[in-house]
Amino acid sequence: MTLFRALLILLLAVQSTYSQPPTASSIYGPVSREDYLLGRFRVDQHPAFIKLSSTAIPTRGREQFLRKEAAEALGRLLGDLKRDHPQAEFWVVSSTRNYYDQKGIWESKWNGGTLVEGKALNKSIQDPAKRAQKILEFSSMPGTSRHHWGTDFDMNVLTNVYYDSGNGKIVYDWFKKNASKYGFCQPYTAGRKKGYFEERWHWSYLPISRLLLADWKTLFDHHTEKLKGFEGFAASGHLAPTYVESINPDCQ
Ligand SMILES: [Zn+2]
Repeated sequence: MTLFRALLILLLAVQSTYSQPPTASSIYGPVSREDYLLGRFRVDQHPAFIKLSSTAIPTRGREQFLRKEAAEALGRLLGDLKRDHPQAEFWVVSSTRNYYDQKGIWESKWNGGTLVEGKALNKSIQDPAKRAQKILEFSSMPGTSRHHWGTDFDMNVLTNVYYDSGNGKIVYDWFKKNASKYGFCQPYTAGRKKGYFEERWHWSYLPISRLLLADWKTLFDHHTEKLKGFEGFAASGHLAPTYVESINPDCQ
């Protein structure tokens, strides 16, 4: 072995030692920190993401994307869920959503296009602050959703009662007991005093999402004006830090 070759191997070894685990600065790839956290980038073109149809992770609905680290950990988790419960059914219904996806969800509820508990909120709740709070029970303002981050997904069915019995209970009970071993955590648990209501279907890949949450706080806690750009912002923008940060303490 030449000295040059030995040095090259040493250099590569040192580099790989320092390239893991991910640090906040290495997460964002070609996108700025602010654009990434706001969901303002093309997920299908970001090198850190993988299409779930190219993995063994079952999905329903449109094409789903997650960060590669999260998809890899979820794949291992699902292998072990299947080992313990061969009949259990799991699928991803929603994963990464960009700013415009979230703006569509939010504004459709704001304008009455999507009914909330059977009501068009633009007619049933005139007060903008109260209308925003109603939507915020389960939906995020654009720019404030963990679904922008590539670390979070919704599974199976988007109602808590589904997880009280049958397949839902088997999957949820297993997740509660085991998901943390693979890095996953339920951000919106029951019993929190503030923020979104309980969501048994929403799970987050903590090794990366905790870094993103820390950066979100740094960038937006005292600059909620940067979130401007959607209907109802004037009544709701100041609430963003409360909703982003009022999560299960185990997920921080
Ligand atoms: Zn969700």
